[in-house]
Amino acid sequence: MDTLAARIAQIYERIAAAAGRAGRAPSEVRLVGVAKTHPPELVAEALAAGLADFGENRVQEAQAKIAALATERTRVRWHLIGHLQSNKAKRAAELFDMVHSVDSLHLARALARHTLVSEDRESRIEDGAPQPECDPQSSILDPRRLPVLLQVNVSGEASKEGFDLAGWQARPAALEAFLAEAEQILALPGLAVRGLMTIAPWGSDPEQARPTFRAAQQLRELLAQRLPGAGWPELSMGMTDDFEGAIEEGATIVRVGRAIFGSRA
Ligand SMILES: *Cc1c(COP(=O)(O)O)cnc(C)c1O
Repeated sequence: MDTLAARIAQIYERIAAAAGRAGRAPSEVRLVGVAKTHPPELVAEALAAGLADFGENRVQEAQAKIAALATERTRVRWHLIGHLQSNKAKRAAELFDMVHSVDSLHLARALARHTLVSEDRESRIEDGAPQPECDPQSSILDPRRLPVLLQVNVSGEASKEGFDLAGWQARPAALEAFLAEAEQILALPGLAVRGLMTIAPWGSDPEQARPTFRAAQQLRELLAQRLPGAGWPELSMGMTDDFEGAIEEGATIVRVGRAIFGSRA
């Protein structure tokens, strides 16, 4: 039967198989259902089927959906996965449980500033909303900090968004510039940097995405050595067409839209 619940169960099976191929536990991979363009009713259905993490790429659309599902708020983790303009940082800091798309120091500062004064976040924490696991390796133990990922463009193709780290292994100056900015972001009191996010180049052959995934994983390992303060536990990569390869290459969060909710208009 092709129900939403059956599709979610299938994705979990494929996640477990891909994790197994890489010698990893399925529990190391979190599935984020990307509900953009789909109505809140579908999110409610997915929530009833056991999915608790949802991704949106536009603040305005997410705001309406989050409001429509307000009674479920403490059971859901909302992830912002799309590009964020600094002038929407205040709303994003209030609405989301994790922002994957931090792509500049300027944006990080804006998010950090607004997170610390967000009463919405404060009251959600008091209501017992699920918080990201604290990383005992790091100093991030304050639940008021907004968990974020730094979006990196390691392919140079997919989009112009993300810190420019295309071919970073051969571009020491670009790498050092990024490390210097990342260090400043780590020092912002309102944010908890949890890792990296990347988007692979679009292509019909999912194997084409593998070098991008590998470069992102290698960058995460380098960051864990050079800037150990954050621990860098998370790596958000892989979508409907390529999430299995992403898991084999080390993804801890996959962002799956069409395979769960169907094609978008
Ligand atoms: C839309 C989107 C996804 C999900 O894409 P699908 O191909 O539908 O799985 C994942 N990540 C980002 C950043 C997106 O914008």
